[in-house]
Amino acid sequence: MSAEQHEFFETRTVAAKPDLVFVRSLRAQNYRLTLRKDGVGVATIPNRGSEREARRFAEEHQDWLERARSRQARKPRVATLWTLGTHVLWRGEMTEIRPASDGVRPTVGLAADVFRVPALQGDLRPTLEAHFLRRGKIELPGRTWQLAAETGMNVKQVTVRNQRSRWGSCSAGGTISLNWRLVQTPDSVRDYIIYHELMHLREMNHSDRFWARVAEVCPWWNEAELWLKRNGSLLGL
Ligand SMILES: [Zn+2]
Repeated sequence: MSAEQHEFFETRTVAAKPDLVFVRSLRAQNYRLTLRKDGVGVATIPNRGSEREARRFAEEHQDWLERARSRQARKPRVATLWTLGTHVLWRGEMTEIRPASDGVRPTVGLAADVFRVPALQGDLRPTLEAHFLRRGKIELPGRTWQLAAETGMNVKQVTVRNQRSRWGSCSAGGTISLNWRLVQTPDSVRDYIIYHELMHLREMNHSDRFWARVAEVCPWWNEAELWLKRNGSLLGL
C-alpha cells in the first residue's frame, strides 16, 4: 500500500461518519443493502416499509456489508492531489513523483521520464496529465499504425482523446479513438485495447467470433481485461 492510500484510510477513521444510512425509495420493492463508495452502508426502505425493518434487514446482512467493505478497502485508489512523493500510475507501475531539477527550471521525474512543471510546489496533477496527454497523442497513433499494419487492418484515422468512460472506440468508417490514459497502463494492456479496436473493424460487435479474432492476435487479452478491472479505478475509469 502506498503512502497516500494509507493516509486516506487514517483520515477515514478519524472523521466521524455513520456506518449505515437509511434511504426511502418509492420505487423499491424490497429492502436492500448497498455500499457507497465512501464505505457507508445504505439500507433502502421500500415504499411501505419501516426504518425498523430496514435496520433488522441490515443486521441480518451484516456479513455481506463487512465483506463488501473489505473488498472496497483492497481496491487500489487514486490520489486526487499530486505532489512530490505521490505515487501515480505511469507505464503500468505505481511510480513516485520525484524532483529532478536544479530549481531554475523545475522538472519532476517519473521513472526514466522527465517533465517540466511550473513549480515543484502545489498540485502537479494538471501539468502532468497535460504532459501525459501530449505523450499519448504522439505514442498511441504510432503504435496503432504499427499494429494495424501487422494485422493487415485498414485504419483511416487515429484520434487520442480525453475519455472518462472508455478506453477506446472504433467507427465503421475506420477511425479508432483511444484514451490518452493508455500511456499510464502497461504496454501489454495498451496493445490489447488497440488490437480490440482493430478487430472491431472486422466484427462490429462483441460476439464469440469477435473474441476469437482478438484471441488470435492478442492471446493475453484475458489478463489485460483483468488488469483493467482491477486498476481502472487508479485512472478514474
Ligand atoms: Zn469492444
